[in-house]
Amino acid sequence: MGRRRTGPTEVVRAMVYERDGGACVRCGALEGLTIHHRVNRGMGGAREPWINQAHNLLTACTMCNGWFEDNPRESYEAGWKVRRPQLPGEVLVRYPDGSEYGLTPDGVRATTVAAAR
Ligand SMILES: [Zn+2]
Repeated sequence: MGRRRTGPTEVVRAMVYERDGGACVRCGALEGLTIHHRVNRGMGGAREPWINQAHNLLTACTMCNGWFEDNPRESYEAGWKVRRPQLPGEVLVRYPDGSEYGLTPDGVRATTVAAAR
């Protein structure tokens, strides 16, 4: 029986937190933060290596984390959620500054790309 790893490593969590300025990507809250998966884990999804990589993860407060699930349409529009078969690196994310950024697996938040749909 091996150890089951179901979430991102501490290194990745720290990378995501730093990339997002230690604030919720939707409301900017600095407290009660958790890690949100843009493409949900589930149904074997955890076997895909990118599921727990930085570009699939966002810093979110627990309130917004629930909001994403309750408001999927807005969440997909803002890139807070990503719908398969799209990949997290292909969808820009809206941040509280109103800009949209592309994310990479190594924790970079790329400069704004204007309406790259
Ligand atoms: Zn929030």
